[in-house]
Amino acid sequence: MSYSEDELISISALAHYSYCPRRCALIHIEQAWEENLFTAQGRLMHERAHSETRETRGNITTARGLPLRSLRLGLVDKADVVEFHRQPASVAQPFPVEYKRGKPKVESCDKIQLCAQAMCLEEMLNVAVLDGAIFYGTTNRRFDVAFDDLLRRETEETARATHALLDAGVTPPPEHRKSCESCSLLHGCFPKALRPGRSAVAYINTIWDSL
Ligand code: SF4
Repeated sequence: MSYSEDELISISALAHYSYCPRRCALIHIEQAWEENLFTAQGRLMHERAHSETRETRGNITTARGLPLRSLRLGLVDKADVVEFHRQPASVAQPFPVEYKRGKPKVESCDKIQLCAQAMCLEEMLNVAVLDGAIFYGTTNRRFDVAFDDLLRRETEETARATHALLDAGVTPPPEHRKSCESCSLLHGCFPKALRPGRSAVAYINTIWDSL
């Protein structure tokens, strides 16, 4: 299967879906976005990384803001950074690097986002991309990520599920989870109050308690 240009969705939607399908729908279907300190810091980091530049030091050429696309997965975006590692007698090996404000997450959403970038590069450049890295601002360290079969399968499944969610255009009900506490949409989502099966009285009491 191959998608057309106007069916492409942003790679960041996969990360949102993997974190929470409702969060993905609120952002990409309902255009809901609440800026908080964390998202503002993240946005500034990405704006810096997305200004299109290239520089070469030694055997590594660093491209910032490189456009990415995969018609097979139906994805489009810009990479924060792609390093091209030159090796003797072979083509330069692309090595995507994603910048995140926070610290490494339990969820695999960041790895899926990075793997989707790698799969776009493979389709665009016809070269195998074996690994990349995620830089976390809080720990000020970057962690290598290997694009193994398991992560690739998870990325493909997430791409399909995200397309299905956005095509359907229906926002799933909330489901309270640990990651809700660091979700920038928490205050507009009411994950505890609105969960399926909750009575209207309980819902109103929750709103009242939060005032
Ligand atoms: S608050 Fe929780 S349920 Fe609501 S969008 Fe965020 S992660 Fe999803």
